[in-house]
Amino acid sequence: MSKVLLISTGGTITMVRNEATQALAPADIETFKAFMPELFAGSVHVDIQAFSPLIDSSDVNPECWVRIARMVYDHYDDYDGFVVLHGTDTMSYSASALSFMLQNLSKPVVFTGSQLPVGVLRSDAKENLLTAIEIAAAKDDEGNAIVPEVTIYFEDRLFRANRTTKRNAEHFSAFNSYNYPALAKAGVHITYQPHLVHYSDPKEPLILHTSFDCNVAVLKLFPGIQQPVVRALLHTRGLKGVVLETFGAGNAPTDKWLYRELKAAVDRGIIIVNKTQCNTGSVEMGLYAVSLNLMKAGVISGYDITTEALLTKMMLLLGENPEHAKELIGQDLCGEMTID
Ligand code: ASP
Repeated sequence: MSKVLLISTGGTITMVRNEATQALAPADIETFKAFMPELFAGSVHVDIQAFSPLIDSSDVNPECWVRIARMVYDHYDDYDGFVVLHGTDTMSYSASALSFMLQNLSKPVVFTGSQLPVGVLRSDAKENLLTAIEIAAAKDDEGNAIVPEVTIYFEDRLFRANRTTKRNAEHFSAFNSYNYPALAKAGVHITYQPHLVHYSDPKEPLILHTSFDCNVAVLKLFPGIQQPVVRALLHTRGLKGVVLETFGAGNAPTDKWLYRELKAAVDRGIIIVNKTQCNTGSVEMGLYAVSLNLMKAGVISGYDITTEALLTKMMLLLGENPEHAKELIGQDLCGEMTID
């Protein structure tokens, strides 16, 4: 019998409505289990480890990422795969972070949650969770895990975690992977796409990275952005990395002050990476004249990476490997971006 460890952090899937405030908040793990007898009735043996208390994912931070990753690492040999129950709001950040923290991963780590609490009649909780467990336990004919990556399963799609973005606060299909196809689709059958999966060398041991440096920021450009705003952000004490959200194929206003501020920040040792504000497509610095200044200033291309993946990758590289962070940030580490 395959064994899966279910790690519950909280999220809507575990929530009930508070009588007094009428707001949704996580219940405890025993209440959740009582709603999910199916967990223990299938062909996969499921054990549970839960945060106490369970939390809304707005409260998830790098310490929580370390707790989740440690649970996987500490029990790595005991299970065939792992499922992480997590709120949808920051799931793409956490799942992206785990993809960089668990180097040489060769077992599935599947994040899931739901848009409606498990106790609500129309909830998407059961389908999401039971399919995520099936995927975490799935093996090919040779007994190897079919998708040994960190992934997100939601509604009927399995995505590479570090390619995802929460796109919808209303529909059951809450996530999308705009720049990389789904690794599996679930209908009557689960259809996997093994040629799209990222495989680590199974002979390499799992390495856990846990040091994050949170001295990073996102700077979103907009028409009319003023120098004092950019200057204030780039002069933030201790700042080490910036996700620069640009227009289209990685373009920015040609104001001389913007070039000077960015160049001075790069010269002070701050890593600045160009991430397009478009969901789909890639940064292509040099395609338009309006991106030449960014290149001259020493801004690095983020190609087609998501903001969630770039931010968590930057925090981890700055924490773990500050001397080489600048060189590694522009490289594809585990399928998070397409460099052509
Ligand atoms: N606020 C919830 C959370 O992220 C939303 C959800 O789970 O869908 O924990």
